[in-house]
Amino acid sequence: MTAVEPKPAVTQDTFDSLNPGTDEVVGTYPVHSAEQVQQAVDQAKAAASWWASLGFDGRAERLRRWNAAITRRMSELIDVVCQETGKPYGDAQLEIVLAIEHIAWAGRHAGKILGRKRRSSGLLLSNHTATVEYLPLGVVGVIGPWNYPVYTPLGSITYALAAGNAVVFKPSEYTPGVGKWLADTFADVVPEQPVFQLITGFGATGAALVGAGVNKIAFTGSTATGKKIMAAAAETLTPVVIEAGGKDALLVDDDADVDAAADAAVWGAFSNSGQTCIGVERVYVHERVYDSFVDKVVALTGKVKPGTQYGPMTMPSQLDVVRRHIADALAKGGRALTGGKDAVGDRFVEPTVLVDVPEDSEAVREETFGPTMTVAKVKDMDEAVDKANATTYGLGSTVFSKHNGPRIAERLRSGMTSINAPFSFAGMASLPFGGVGDSGFGRIHGPEGLREFSRPKAVARQRFSAPINLTTFSRTEKTEKLVQRLVTALHGRGGKR
Ligand code: NAD
Repeated sequence: MTAVEPKPAVTQDTFDSLNPGTDEVVGTYPVHSAEQVQQAVDQAKAAASWWASLGFDGRAERLRRWNAAITRRMSELIDVVCQETGKPYGDAQLEIVLAIEHIAWAGRHAGKILGRKRRSSGLLLSNHTATVEYLPLGVVGVIGPWNYPVYTPLGSITYALAAGNAVVFKPSEYTPGVGKWLADTFADVVPEQPVFQLITGFGATGAALVGAGVNKIAFTGSTATGKKIMAAAAETLTPVVIEAGGKDALLVDDDADVDAAADAAVWGAFSNSGQTCIGVERVYVHERVYDSFVDKVVALTGKVKPGTQYGPMTMPSQLDVVRRHIADALAKGGRALTGGKDAVGDRFVEPTVLVDVPEDSEAVREETFGPTMTVAKVKDMDEAVDKANATTYGLGSTVFSKHNGPRIAERLRSGMTSINAPFSFAGMASLPFGGVGDSGFGRIHGPEGLREFSRPKAVARQRFSAPINLTTFSRTEKTEKLVQRLVTALHGRGGKR
């Protein structure tokens, strides 16, 4: 069984998905029109009621079966990811394994986190019970990027489904095949209703989804597109989660394990060709360990080969951005210890380590999204924190320090920080994922991610009538005086000497 897709229109346009390493066509997909998107959303509304009616256990069981199918057929999915992004096998496997962990966690924990719970009713209303539960929103529109085409959109899709919503998913135009594989395998396991539908196309198809009356949009992509989506969603007061770009910093204190820090910096900056929203783009190193850190980074970088450890740039237009950032850094006085001026080829970019780059250059201020890092010497971690925070972005960050990690992490203006290892927070399904500032807002993953796709419903129930009733026209002066005394006894003493 394949995923339920909107019927093709008479004037159906299509687009090709290419292997970025070879330009070979690896699939052809419809460009869904606004009418087709609307049709998908309308179908999803009915499916959402059915899916919600299954309850937490019914949904968890189906999510478990879907997860088992993904796990069993992982090699197929790896192939699709490798073909459409050009990334190496191991990197595709890693993102899928992480996504599998998330599906398992969300299914298992949704009931406990979102189910009905008692709250205190307070003394004045102690004749009531108070409860809160988190109900599904209805239909969630998910718009995804191409860089981690499994892990990233599933961070929204999985949590939205576990919370009881139907999903209409618009994957990136660079990775429609991955989206189709995910929707098809879900439909195999849940054939009854179109709970998870796929729509494909370019920005216009995504824009149609924003305007199609969904109950929430979960967007992951660039900050510029996030702003457009938020503006469009404002027209219908459709809430949005924005998971946008980053300019993540890695900080190395003088008590750090410098070998481990250098290894993490090299992996964090160059893996997936640097096309990672939480990729390391800037490094601030304590002056006492700066020289040895830089030597180790350069030595490790010498072993990183584009085409082996990482793939081509998935999106050809990104080559120009990387070239511009390197050129600007060098023009402003920076030096390239590896890569540099000629690092950017037709498809691949050589790993580039830049030092002495002024803080106002593009390579330090703007998201590069390529295999580059700037390394700067700082006199202490106060300076490192100030410089790391001097960006409009605030997605992730990394700290290497044997003793001061949590203290430094607390001061970093980012949604997540990993201490003494790269990217660890992304692998923990229990931790919320998301940023601040230009990196967006709202959270996927963890309890916060489940709540993001639900609405809290508060219910107060009177169990017996109380002697003091203030919400009636028949209340008496005596009751009012009694309340006055009661509230004074309860709250009136604070501040008295
Ligand atoms: P993008 O903004 O170009 O596209 C993302 C998606 O939005 C695509 O599916 C695209 O078709 C769609 N889109 C484009 N215009 C639209 C419009 N007007 N209305 C609705 N949808 C529209 O981003 P990209 O190049 O695919 O992804 C790279 C970016 O994503 C980087 O900035 C990266 O940092 C960011 N990213 C962030 C996270 C995170 O979790 N914060 C994760 C991965 C990637």
